[in-house]
Amino acid sequence: MSAVPPVPPAPAVTNTRVAAALLALAAAEEPGGRASKEYRAAARTLRNLRADLHGRRFALASLPDVTHRAADAIGAFLASGSDENVGDALAAMLDRADPAAGRKADFLSQADVDRILSAPGGLSRADLCADLHLHTDRSDGRMPLPRLHRALENRGDRYALLTDHARDCAVAGGLFPGDFRAQRREVDALNARAETFTMFVGAEANIAEDGTLDVTPRSVPEIEAVVASVHTGLRSPRDQTGRLVRAIETPGVAVLGHPKGRLYDMRSGIRADWPRVFAAAAARGVAIELNGCPERLDLPPALARVAADSGCLFSLSSDAHAAAHLSFLDFGLAVARLAGIPSSRVVNAFSRDRFAAWLEERRSGGAITERT
Ligand SMILES: [Zn+2]
Ligand SMILES: [Zn+2]
Repeated sequence: MSAVPPVPPAPAVTNTRVAAALLALAAAEEPGGRASKEYRAAARTLRNLRADLHGRRFALASLPDVTHRAADAIGAFLASGSDENVGDALAAMLDRADPAAGRKADFLSQADVDRILSAPGGLSRADLCADLHLHTDRSDGRMPLPRLHRALENRGDRYALLTDHARDCAVAGGLFPGDFRAQRREVDALNARAETFTMFVGAEANIAEDGTLDVTPRSVPEIEAVVASVHTGLRSPRDQTGRLVRAIETPGVAVLGHPKGRLYDMRSGIRADWPRVFAAAAARGVAIELNGCPERLDLPPALARVAADSGCLFSLSSDAHAAAHLSFLDFGLAVARLAGIPSSRVVNAFSRDRFAAWLEERRSGGAITERT
């Protein structure tokens, strides 16, 4: 495993830490009340800013969606002098430690991502040829397929894996076999007109509690492979190693999607013997996803490093549900950087032909791939 490239040091107080503290203030207010909404809106603004606020001089209340009440809190946190002191200042305001701190730990803000990616060396955006987790308005996304196809081609991507939900995610408008067949025909027609870009047709398969999947290339031959992910039982205290390993060992599974199922400020995700899960994935050549959706950031950086040390391949993805989400790939890239993952381990850094061959291997039963 290559050494982790140096990352420019974070400021003493990060937007990430201040945003988490604002959410703790929001949670202490009347749910749905004005103060709660103001703190939440300000937290969202801070997480999206491209630069950290600490050490800069300007009017906080001029930031988008930051009211005077929120600006006062942000000012107090910035003045505390360090991320650790923010915790103390918050505990003093709340009269207790933040009970949800663990559900906001190890996430990144846009400013963190920009700082991490500004360091020279290591995996970069130029290494990535594709996004491998994408939704259209046919399931729960907002982009029509032709628009998504065009956006990726115009961006210069060489290929993509389309992954709308299947039937078990009926709440997300999951597709039935006939819908996948229609989508296959539509993608084939779009691919025929594209010069430098190929969209592969996959699906986001749902991993049931027993580890079985709602869609695979065996049940729907029109799809080439699936990203398999958990969407239920995410707050269960039980160990879910067997559930994940069974999914990984199912022919046609190319990627284990958002493995923990964690959600920022909402839940920590499932428990599992992660080294065993990663060993199973490494043995089958199944890639572990670094889901870049900022609310997921799943795997978190420390677990990504464990997966890297286990010899896993990785898939970096945006899990985009709208055009604005396509840039979330950078969050996955930042996690890969923090974990010291080289481009040779990233399946969306493969050439189109090598990626197609790797997908075909997953489809035919998951031979063990050579790795460097
Ligand atoms: Zn999902
Ligand atoms: Zn998804």
